[in-house]
Amino acid sequence: MCFGVRDAITLARRTAAQQSVTVLGQLVHNQGVLEQLHREGVRFAESPDEVRTDAIMITAHGASDKRLTAARLTGKKVIEATCPLVHYAHRELRMLLVTGYHPVIIGQRGHVEVNGLTEDLDECDIILTEDDVAQMIERPKFGVVAQTTQPIDRVRRLTDSLRRRFPKSEVLLQDTVCRPTKERQQAAVDLAQQCEVVVVIGGSNSNNTRELVQTCLKHCKRVHHIQSSAQLEENWFSADDIVGITAGTSTPDWIIDGVVQALKSLEQKVTSSTELAAAAH
Ligand code: SF4
Repeated sequence: MCFGVRDAITLARRTAAQQSVTVLGQLVHNQGVLEQLHREGVRFAESPDEVRTDAIMITAHGASDKRLTAARLTGKKVIEATCPLVHYAHRELRMLLVTGYHPVIIGQRGHVEVNGLTEDLDECDIILTEDDVAQMIERPKFGVVAQTTQPIDRVRRLTDSLRRRFPKSEVLLQDTVCRPTKERQQAAVDLAQQCEVVVVIGGSNSNNTRELVQTCLKHCKRVHHIQSSAQLEENWFSADDIVGITAGTSTPDWIIDGVVQALKSLEQKVTSSTELAAAAH
């Protein structure tokens, strides 16, 4: 689990032990962790109007000034668990704006972090594909930032496309992809190149987990995205397979450990059933 999500969970737990608190949105894209936090008293809501607790917490994904103001107007205590690396992306975007660049955000439209980056802007482009670049109109200066969990090679590729499409424009990229994402993506490439099967553990709505799946698929044909050990299937594996495991930034250690244990049990089962089949021949 990355430090940003881990710190946000710790803050939610510590706050819930002292006062009632509601988190706006999903603190972490992992159902198991959310259920555990709920049992510890943490409440969740989508909008400040729904909050009935003493305090409101903003997630590690951050929030726009508009959303922060709406939270403060409820009169409740507002606690920010925004990751420092998301704050960095906000600061870089603001610098680009004040120096006259048209803002371009490489990220998933509608994702809470992207909403936090864009909700205060009068205009901006949110792009994720070459088609998105093709639909943009020319501006003298483009200032590019990325959602922190985007693969860095996509960010560079789309920035290059922008430069090719608008050769007369200045295109400035501020690299806001966070270090945990970069390290995890590179580790996933190294892993997938060595394995016959890769199991990626993480929430079905976790952007960085889905990106890990896509990255692994470029280097390994058999990639399975699961949320917990309960979703592992025996028929995905055969006795000689080297199986790699990776996980999104919001996957806790106890879920990963559960998958490792389940895979070890499966390994024995798959190996012995292969031996039985060989003996029968
Ligand atoms: S994925 Fe990166 S930016 Fe997001 S919370 Fe983790 S460290 Fe922070």
